[in-house]
Amino acid sequence: MALIVKKFGGSSVANAERVMNVARIVTEDYKKGNDVVVVVSAQGDTTDDLIAKAEEIYPSNPPKREMDMLLSSGEQISIALLAMAIQKLGFPSVSLLGWQAGFSTDSKHTLARIKKINSDRIRNELDKKNIVVVAGFQGLNKYDDITTLGRGGSDTTAVAIAATLGADLCQIYTDVDGVYTADPEKDPTATKFEKITYDEIYNKGLKVMDLTATTMCKENHLPIVVFNMDVEGNLKKLMEGQQIGTIVY
Ligand code: ASP
Ligand code: MG
Repeated sequence: MALIVKKFGGSSVANAERVMNVARIVTEDYKKGNDVVVVVSAQGDTTDDLIAKAEEIYPSNPPKREMDMLLSSGEQISIALLAMAIQKLGFPSVSLLGWQAGFSTDSKHTLARIKKINSDRIRNELDKKNIVVVAGFQGLNKYDDITTLGRGGSDTTAVAIAATLGADLCQIYTDVDGVYTADPEKDPTATKFEKITYDEIYNKGLKVMDLTATTMCKENHLPIVVFNMDVEGNLKKLMEGQQIGTIVY
């Protein structure tokens, strides 16, 4: 029996069918007797849509505390839907917001850093045999205000939970199909690396995974695997690394 942390990005949970697909993947691990924690991002373009909504009201530099209140709602939707989907398949599951999962951060709204994770609640839920679904990208500051961890912050949530719980495996499912020299959606000249290490990802500031998450993996020597999942749910292993310098995809 192992403790597995799995993270699914926004496109993996973009609609009901894909949420059910994620629920199936997650329950496969659970059926084998593993403890499973799942971190999810907001569905599809939800976060961008929420930013657009804020800009309709407050076009330039909207108040950051309120942005966090707004943006964190995207992940609240996806955790509830995924926990329901898992229960629909007949398995016990509970959804937790960042603060319920014990994430304390500093007060830098929209770009908060994790200060501490109190994992008691997650452990309790795992002891009760629940599949625990955690909202990515969010926490609570010392004033009990919601914070978010910066765009792409769900990776950080997943890796931080894996490090805190001492997970046996941390699996990141993404719609990116490799590590590129630049964002392939924005830069048509971007090319894909054949081979890459944690250090290169970090030094070049590349984005397959959020940078804080990459650093955390490296520092904790986390057994991490990154998969590409296309819209049909097909999986391809992108990279895997137990030690610094050995990540190859
Ligand atoms: N939903 C947030 C974003 O789009 C966090 C994430 O996807 O990791 O940036
Ligand atoms: Mg997203």
